[in-house]
Amino acid sequence: MKLPIYLDYHATTPVDPRVLEAMLPFFAESFGNPASRNHKFGWMAATAVENARKQVAKLINASAKEIVFTSGASESDNLAIKGVAHRYHDRGNHIITMATEHKAVLDSAKRLIPEGITVTLARLQPDGLVDLDDLKRAITDKTLLVSIMAANNEIGVIQPLAEIGLLCRERGVLFHTDAAQATGKIPIDVQAMQIDLLSIAGHKMYAPKGIGALCVIRRGAVELTPILDGGGHEGGLRSGTLNVPGIVGLGKACEFCRQDMPEESRRLAALRDRLKDGLLAGLDGIHINGSLEHRLPNNLNVSFPGLDVATLMSAMSDIALSSGSACTSGTPEPSYVLKALGVSEEVANTPLRFGLGRFTTEEEIDYCLRRVVETVKKLREMGSTAAA
Ligand SMILES: *Cc1c(COP(=O)(O)O)cnc(C)c1O
Repeated sequence: MKLPIYLDYHATTPVDPRVLEAMLPFFAESFGNPASRNHKFGWMAATAVENARKQVAKLINASAKEIVFTSGASESDNLAIKGVAHRYHDRGNHIITMATEHKAVLDSAKRLIPEGITVTLARLQPDGLVDLDDLKRAITDKTLLVSIMAANNEIGVIQPLAEIGLLCRERGVLFHTDAAQATGKIPIDVQAMQIDLLSIAGHKMYAPKGIGALCVIRRGAVELTPILDGGGHEGGLRSGTLNVPGIVGLGKACEFCRQDMPEESRRLAALRDRLKDGLLAGLDGIHINGSLEHRLPNNLNVSFPGLDVATLMSAMSDIALSSGSACTSGTPEPSYVLKALGVSEEVANTPLRFGLGRFTTEEEIDYCLRRVVETVKKLREMGSTAAA
């Protein structure tokens, strides 16, 4: 076993060696621009891109023409939300989302407020699932878009996508889901779930950073105003020369995730439950955040009330963990995700996020379990001595 152990797979994942291998030719030998229509260099790149488009589409039961390659889920979220608001401003001015979304969704929606868009945050249940009745009530005839994430990046809670999709379709409202943490981990079917727009992040699923996709279902019927103008790439939705190696990597990553998903999700859920059960058996006074039933197989989020989690993490520098999302960390603020669930200040201030992944082993989980239990006990002893 090699130290440090990586248990921060929600922040990012390593590129799978098989994905890297598939990408390598497209940096040098097959370096063509897929928009070059007059020679073999361009044709080869274009063929590779179209093959990757099919691989991405297949993972979520979309069709290849519905996939728009972007730089990642942040860009996809921006394009979906701003793109709908700008394209359909004559039809309505209302967007519904929720407080536990990634900042790429929340801040995209917020950016539209000065333009006259109203943003409603649907109520959440204490387990992190959106309150469907409240969501239903929030929809008005001015509502353009509902943006509800597939799975949360801190607490791994999976939202009832099919129910939300049905609700939106019935009311003629577009449904966007940020699936950065969900694609490749749990089955997603954009047809069955009636999803209109879906964001994907390559680096959360063993492809490189800086590549992602926005799936625009029923493209043609669903239109977006682009953010980037230029050469009209990606059907005019995202100008800019395509990141061919990244796209090839994302395609391969989707294929591997699709093939491995049933077995891999069972394996990860078993390891995660081993960790959870061990922590609960070894430590009292800890608090598990978010639904255990509707949850990513690779996520565990535990609060340690009374403990300074920054100290806990630095006492365990042989394990790479995070207390919240990588995107807002650096600021020692309580988790806005946990606060939105209505937990106590103590719980919101002391979360530790365990993110398991493809290269996590049972040996690593057992080591981590031992280290957390012994370190928490030691810190609690020191704390009580200091207090006395
Ligand atoms: C990581 C993440 C993003 C951002 O994706 P990037 O590809 O890094 O821009 C957006 N939403 C969620 C839920 C994420 O986990």
